[in-house]
Amino acid sequence: MGEAERLDMLIDAVEMGVSYIDVELKAVDKFWERTHKSTMARTRLILSYHDFERPLSRVQVEETMARMKAKGADIVKIAMTATSALDNCTVISALMGASMPTILLAMGELGRPSRILGGRFSAYLTFASAKEGEESAPGQVDLETLLNVYHFAHIGKHTRLYGVIGNPVMQSMGPVLHNSVFREKRLDAAYVHLLVEDHVARFIREMGALGFEGFSVTIPGKVDAIDAMDEVEDAVEKIGSMNTVFRDNDGRLKGSNTDWRGAMDAVCEQTGGDLKGKRVLVLGAGGTGKALVFGALERGAQEVFVANRTKEKAIKLAKYFGGGVLAIGLEEIGGVGALDVVMNSTSVGMVPRVEECPLDVTLLRQGMIVFDAVYNPLETRLLREAKRRGASCISGVEMFVRQAARQFETWFPDLKAPVALMREVVLEKLQSSV
Ligand code: NAP
Repeated sequence: MGEAERLDMLIDAVEMGVSYIDVELKAVDKFWERTHKSTMARTRLILSYHDFERPLSRVQVEETMARMKAKGADIVKIAMTATSALDNCTVISALMGASMPTILLAMGELGRPSRILGGRFSAYLTFASAKEGEESAPGQVDLETLLNVYHFAHIGKHTRLYGVIGNPVMQSMGPVLHNSVFREKRLDAAYVHLLVEDHVARFIREMGALGFEGFSVTIPGKVDAIDAMDEVEDAVEKIGSMNTVFRDNDGRLKGSNTDWRGAMDAVCEQTGGDLKGKRVLVLGAGGTGKALVFGALERGAQEVFVANRTKEKAIKLAKYFGGGVLAIGLEEIGGVGALDVVMNSTSVGMVPRVEECPLDVTLLRQGMIVFDAVYNPLETRLLREAKRRGASCISGVEMFVRQAARQFETWFPDLKAPVALMREVVLEKLQSSV
């Protein structure tokens, strides 16, 4: 449709007395040449500006809004294109400073939060696609997800904001999990996916200043996020990574690590509280391996062995923790004698290579506690074999649920996390995505 034709249609619409018309800022002079304000008694004028390639700076947004106001807009609308997660900060701060009804959002995957959180910052409206796959602009969220995952209809001026930072992040079950808990506990709070490709620390500080009260942090930001913190818990210093951001009573940003706690809560439930007197094997020496070794030591394990495909990494990890941690090669596991607890932190056995197992299954024994951090599939080959030999098995879902429960209790210290509900939500989500 050409510009002239489009204008004809809009003018017809005004004559019919429609409630709103949306006119591009660049066409507004022509519009006013053919329409008089007096004919607009029943119609509100939305003036729009789109940039399908770039974001606008805060100053550019304000200048554009001022121009729209001067041209007779009742409602201003700016859709820019996010090239960084930080563009959400521009949108939010401009919405907070807006003096008239405003629709403002950042298009594209990086700008999704700006589409979901508008209601918190008094945006006039947002746009959603009727169905997934039917988006009319990049980054649009479908109505079902907007209402049922993000609980958009409940987001208002006082809603407390949380989110999970990662790249990629859309696979994170955090939003479905935490938003279900918020509903169950009748909390005015919302939790969103936050795709952050770079400048993680700056993003946390800026979003924090704009009202976010907490974040979960997943791969690859768990180390870089530390730079944004005013203070970190001891465990973060020792493990060198964090997954939770919260505010202390003085409003300062604090970092904690609930991954190790989540795993240890699950394992120690089986042992009666701690790992005292236990001989523990940790398979893997990556980020999770380090958290599990730390956790085993914190819970008082008598001896901790760490075995890794690349033995040098296990040696480095053992040296780092000193004392009670011994590095071994994968082929040396059989030589260390009876083990009480085996914890897998490698990705071996994860979809699609579900037939793989991180250790020789003949080493699995009755009475052992076997934990697998992998939760996709729900029952890994390691757990299947362990169960067959009479060991007590703990799936990665337990770690995931309990680290999230600890996060919830960090953000809401007066409340108890509904662990059973959280487990139910996660299992349902995992089963529906099989
Ligand atoms: P990471 O830092 O990349 O470490 C991966 C570890 O797996 C390394 O020790 C690596 O050994 C080992 N590995 C990878 N492929 C292997 C193979 N084919 N054979 C033997 N060892 C292999 O990863 P991460 O962040 O620690 O995560 C590890 C696993 O934990 C992932 O599956 C993740 O999904 C899971 N996880 C679960 C939760 C939960 O809540 N349940 C939380 C965090 C992580 P090399 O050093 O030799 O490469």
